[in-house]
Amino acid sequence: MTAPSNRSLSSLEQKDVFVRRHIGPSEQEIAAMLTDTGASSLDDLIEQTVPAAIRLPQPLATGESRTEQEVLAYLKSVAAKNTVAKSYIGMGYYPTLVPNVILRNILENPGWYTAYTPYQPEIAQGRLESLLNFQQLSMDLTGMDLASASLLDEATAAAEAMALAKRVSKNKKANLFYVADTVHPQTIDVLQTRAEAFGFEVEVGPATVLSDESIAGKDIFGALFQYPTSEGDIVDIRDQIKAVQDAKGVACVAADIMALMLLKSPGELGADVVLGSAQRFGVPMGYGGPHAAFFATRDKYKRALPGRIIGVSKDTNGKTALRMAMQTREQHIRREKANSNICTAQVLLANMAAFYAVYHGPEGLKTIAQRINRYTDILAAGLSKKGITPVNGHWFDTLTLAVDNKDEIVSRAQAAGINLRLDLDGKLGVSLHEVVTRSDIAQLWDVLLGEGHALEIDNIDAELTAADASSIPAELQRETAVLEHPVFNSYHSETEMLRYIKRLENKDLALNHSMISLGSCTMKLNATAEMIPVTWPEFGELHPFCPAEQATGYKTMIDQLSDWLVDITGYDAICMQPNSGAQGEYAGLLAIQKYHESRGEGHRNVCLIPASAHGTNPASAQMVSMKVVVVACDKQGNVDMDDLRAKAEELADSLSCIMITYPSTHGVYEDTIQEICDVVHQHGGQVYLDGANMNAQVGVTSPGFIGADVSHLNLHKTFCIPHGGGGPGMGPIGVKKHLAPFVAGHTQFDLGNENGAVSAAPFGSASILPISWVYIALMGGIGLKKATEVAILNANYLVAKLKGHFPILYTGQNDRVAHECIIDMRPLKEATGITEMDVAKRLIDYGFHAPTMSFPVAGTLMVEPTESESKVELDRFIEAMLSIRNEISKVEQGDWTLEDNPLVHAPHTQYDVIEADWQHSYDRKTAVYPVSAVAANKFWPSVNRIDDVYGDRNLFCACVPMSEYE
Ligand SMILES: *Cc1c(COP(=O)(O)O)cnc(C)c1O
Repeated sequence: MTAPSNRSLSSLEQKDVFVRRHIGPSEQEIAAMLTDTGASSLDDLIEQTVPAAIRLPQPLATGESRTEQEVLAYLKSVAAKNTVAKSYIGMGYYPTLVPNVILRNILENPGWYTAYTPYQPEIAQGRLESLLNFQQLSMDLTGMDLASASLLDEATAAAEAMALAKRVSKNKKANLFYVADTVHPQTIDVLQTRAEAFGFEVEVGPATVLSDESIAGKDIFGALFQYPTSEGDIVDIRDQIKAVQDAKGVACVAADIMALMLLKSPGELGADVVLGSAQRFGVPMGYGGPHAAFFATRDKYKRALPGRIIGVSKDTNGKTALRMAMQTREQHIRREKANSNICTAQVLLANMAAFYAVYHGPEGLKTIAQRINRYTDILAAGLSKKGITPVNGHWFDTLTLAVDNKDEIVSRAQAAGINLRLDLDGKLGVSLHEVVTRSDIAQLWDVLLGEGHALEIDNIDAELTAADASSIPAELQRETAVLEHPVFNSYHSETEMLRYIKRLENKDLALNHSMISLGSCTMKLNATAEMIPVTWPEFGELHPFCPAEQATGYKTMIDQLSDWLVDITGYDAICMQPNSGAQGEYAGLLAIQKYHESRGEGHRNVCLIPASAHGTNPASAQMVSMKVVVVACDKQGNVDMDDLRAKAEELADSLSCIMITYPSTHGVYEDTIQEICDVVHQHGGQVYLDGANMNAQVGVTSPGFIGADVSHLNLHKTFCIPHGGGGPGMGPIGVKKHLAPFVAGHTQFDLGNENGAVSAAPFGSASILPISWVYIALMGGIGLKKATEVAILNANYLVAKLKGHFPILYTGQNDRVAHECIIDMRPLKEATGITEMDVAKRLIDYGFHAPTMSFPVAGTLMVEPTESESKVELDRFIEAMLSIRNEISKVEQGDWTLEDNPLVHAPHTQYDVIEADWQHSYDRKTAVYPVSAVAANKFWPSVNRIDDVYGDRNLFCACVPMSEYE
């Protein structure tokens, strides 16, 4: 068809061009798919699928679709309202130099940032290796036996340490956690919030109390110290640690990762748990995040460790292979008995920190740490000469200064574009970092002393050299070597580094290879335009506690995003603090609890949770000391209304809330949802609607409209923040008016309430909020609604094509599914012995990541295609599934035995098919090129199927000796 040559301008302008880029299927494809699903139009499909009572009567107010150029130009002008000052605030956040090879090839590379959590380890060996490097780095620097693969931030890691202490302490009757007053204030804030919800007591006081007589009176299950202290001092805490342990408590230390390069490790001082932020290892401050927290402990506490741990195992050929270890400890299996509710963590940022260590190596890191320390020494010596002696007697990078002209200094600092730490009474804090240069020291003297001080860096440096004194106490200087593994000593040229990054990337299947149809996880497009602002310095280089007037760009962007999310969710207010979905659950349940308390009903503590719920729901309920009562589901997978009514009535006096997912985790729009809300409300409870499935709601219905009171939004699912291989994420919560006074506050930032904090930073991982902002701005209200509609179409199209071959477990009205569907593998397993695991691994041979396996129903696969996948890609997936079905038939019919067929031996590696004697009853082509489409885009897994049991029996969570790889 040729276009007419004389077209009007308005027909040539591309109004919704981004909508057409984000949504996979073209208009023609949509039409064809509608025909295949038996719907006459998208509207018709939605009418058939979504119960009429919950369909929104009015469109979203979120405006028109805009072009990428327009949106980015506007956001740039908003970002320009932020002031990038020189930050010397410290408190756990430091300017850092992100090596450009890491910036471009990790942080800005979809091969790394679009990957999913490594649940299919055979196609995740690259990021698993990098996470193992992160664990080794954590272990070496902390002096501990075992480390996890990242937590959300330092403050929540401290809260996890407190919870671990309570679990493992031998002092079972103790209910007190002691916190040294030298701990960062935001950490104390988060600890207090967490402790109150658990029913623990927290006492904040001098660290020294613990080693003197008065410890006898303290019945503690644990304590936390900061090393170096928040105000910069380096104190020998060996006696305090021992005192805690003598009292049968668990000694926890929050440590600075850079300082640990020069300091004796907390492990050598006797600590039981060591945690902290890895931010200053090459991850921008980003106005609070995302960054990875590290968490390390003793071997004896390994089963109590929160979060994910990467372990070493073997594949079916005996080759070394990596995987997530001891998953049975986790929330998705143990529910309210899990160690924590951590699901999404900070994988991408842990990888950046690990690569930073790989690139610099032990010598490079030591030089960086020594330079920071030397600049601090020089700054201090100059100040002392002029009569300002630091309050702290020792330091790594932070000086606390008692000054009588604080106001004068602060105004000089402001004029110079410098931020100092100001929250200390009558004192100032100055924290140096990797970015500091000679001229910065001279400028700091100007600011602190006034000009004309006549200090010379080289003179002071020479004097210090002659005096041979150290600002780090001799008995606390590191003597043990770190990072001796070859991985930290091999890739120091940029060429070697680039290739190492690429080598690992090649082992991983991410969205830039093929569709990742993970039910409940919404692996949709993370558009390049959405990612671009993340690495703008105007967003990246702000300290979370900088003066509010320097962050007006952030405020504009966050307020705008909140307004849009209010419109989309039907709630009245948004709290941006929680930095994962599970953190949002916790924050939302806290708000519910405080609301009940405010009405004199603080005794309400029962949380109803349907049997099908995601494991984080009960795990979060446990964190606010709620009692979980399970509500049954009926044969159709819906909440059993009789059971719900009976339980709500029976428990009416103690009912706090229900946690429910919508559409249900079974992928169905239950038409009883409003009734569920009513029943719970009638009995005095609140409705927490898990927003992980918002991708089936946006523009079509909303939790607020349905009648819920609070929800978290997984911005890393519905709103396009990439999964990063297992994090970062953002889990802001939307609340109705009556809950708004009870959302999180923050000690370092006025959020308009006095409530405790749930994250270290006031706006969580603020620097990834622009991703969701750009997505909404680009799509506009109509585009967002269309995305939902096509997500539903894509799922129903898969059902139409697959249902004759595999049973689809649950459907709603008119036999429709929502945005995902569950393929039941159990009947085939019964008939043939082929399992859902075999199918998942066989999909790898076809170039696909498996759908969600055995959630929410064991023995099933849950497929969520999202709106971003085109018909071509869906058809490729369908072809693979039908071909696999055919293979299962061959086993069923006896053409292949159950022991020798391409399913049970999947995935096949390149090595398998070059072996001279091929022993199988199927040929090599069937093994690795089972359908012709594979040939054009073959993905080779780097290992064969991995043995989970071996890995857990022989737990090994450190870098593997090089010989193992030979
Ligand atoms: C992903 C998910 C969560 C948890 O979110 P995280 O960001 O991983 O903590 C909770 N509920 C459901 C239904 C989910 O799919």
